[in-house]
Amino acid sequence: MKMLDKLEKRLGFLAVPNVVMTLIIAQLVIYAGMLTGRLEFEGLLLVPKAVFAGEWWRLLSFVLTPPYVPATAFQAIFLAFFWYILWMMSQNLEAQWGTFRLNVFLLTSILFAIAGAFIGQLISPAATLYVAPRFLYYSLFLAFATLNPNIQFLMMFLIPVKVKWLAWIIVGFGFIAVLAMPSIGHRIAFVAPYFGYLLFFKGMLRQSLENRQRRSKFAAERIQSADAALHICEECGASDKSHPDRDFRYKSVAKDMVCLCNICREKHSNSN
Ligand SMILES: [Zn+2]
Repeated sequence: MKMLDKLEKRLGFLAVPNVVMTLIIAQLVIYAGMLTGRLEFEGLLLVPKAVFAGEWWRLLSFVLTPPYVPATAFQAIFLAFFWYILWMMSQNLEAQWGTFRLNVFLLTSILFAIAGAFIGQLISPAATLYVAPRFLYYSLFLAFATLNPNIQFLMMFLIPVKVKWLAWIIVGFGFIAVLAMPSIGHRIAFVAPYFGYLLFFKGMLRQSLENRQRRSKFAAERIQSADAALHICEECGASDKSHPDRDFRYKSVAKDMVCLCNICREKHSNSN
């Protein structure tokens, strides 16, 4: 991504270090507002119809909303744990990418989410679409899993699972969710944010696909060459593969080695 390097030279100073921590703190403030009854979860999500009706703050507030509103103490602990993992993954991405790239990644995903919500709403005007900030966590997780496929998470603190398998499971559920959606607009709004991920990883994904193709081609060639017959009779075309019961021998004819099977050899010796 040479364009990104150029952009970083010009706009790098705008990047927010530890941007996900900033995001989490903003979500905590919003969450406090919800707990005290000043704010409502539904009032903050991105709902294109509501934005058209003048609730423009939703264009920003949907990113600052916590992923869900915990109803019990256990759910609250889970939310704290969730934020911790999110922050840990973002630290990893920032270390690998640098601050600017992580900022651009998040911003791109958000812009695609907004564009997808409005395009989806225009395509399916009867539906009422909304976008929760969940896509942001999934995007971050997919980026983290792509860069660290073999790191293991302890599921339920017990079962070690490689991050890449978790990512495939999430992608699988995503596909099922898309199929179950009631309108094309819903599907566009759901899928759009992940174009940010595709944009960032298209080079890497293409390369891994090419590597896979090369590997399978190589494997196919090896099988083919193992399939190839070692001895082929010059006269009848039988080979040690097609006729494993025959006996193949070579005789010298005009300085060339000619392969003959036992049947053809017998015919020769009879006619002689
Ligand atoms: Zn033969």
